[in-house]
Amino acid sequence: MMFGEERKAVVEASREIFERKLTVGTWGNVSVRAEEKDRCVITPSGMDYMKLDPEDMVVVDLEGNVIDGRWKPSTELAMHCEIYKKRDDVNVIVHTHPIFSSVLSVLKEDLPPIIEDMVMLIGERVRVTEYTLPGGKELALKAAEALGKNNAVILANHGSVCVGSDVKKALTACEVLEKSAQIYFYAKLAGKPSTLPKEDVEKLIEASKGYLERWGQK
Ligand SMILES: [Zn+2]
Repeated sequence: MMFGEERKAVVEASREIFERKLTVGTWGNVSVRAEEKDRCVITPSGMDYMKLDPEDMVVVDLEGNVIDGRWKPSTELAMHCEIYKKRDDVNVIVHTHPIFSSVLSVLKEDLPPIIEDMVMLIGERVRVTEYTLPGGKELALKAAEALGKNNAVILANHGSVCVGSDVKKALTACEVLEKSAQIYFYAKLAGKPSTLPKEDVEKLIEASKGYLERWGQK
């Protein structure tokens, strides 16, 4: 079977997002870049995460053409391809519909740098895209643009996308984003949230580089 390891990684990550309650039903999707940089393995469209096997995964090129697979690829395939094309450092993309990130997606409010782990793993802020219907090239372009150099982006009135150099970092980014969105929501209810100073955000991002590299090796 072509790309067996990557297929297994996508299946395991898909189960994780479901078990960690980051999405419900069959919404959301996961992809892993294959060793040849211009291929990725992605979840099929509309299938039950808990019943997926490695053989159900779809191998595509970064133009969205199916190379191998018996099912249709995820409807957000174009978004995954666009992000891989723009970000050479990204090997895993996880799209989910978590509650507090979705609250910000409805408010169309960026998540500012409020908490250290968010800044270290995700970046200086999490932007919200303009609204676009799901599944098309337009959403793909807007998501890749709003993602920028950060490791998470919020899709307006829809959900979130988190990326990483490996599965562990991408899944942890999903949880850190959701936790940070929750903190921001409660802080706004209770008063006026403070943000980290710009120069300290830069220092935290710099300090996180060695830390994330060591983490990746374990
Ligand atoms: Zn979605």
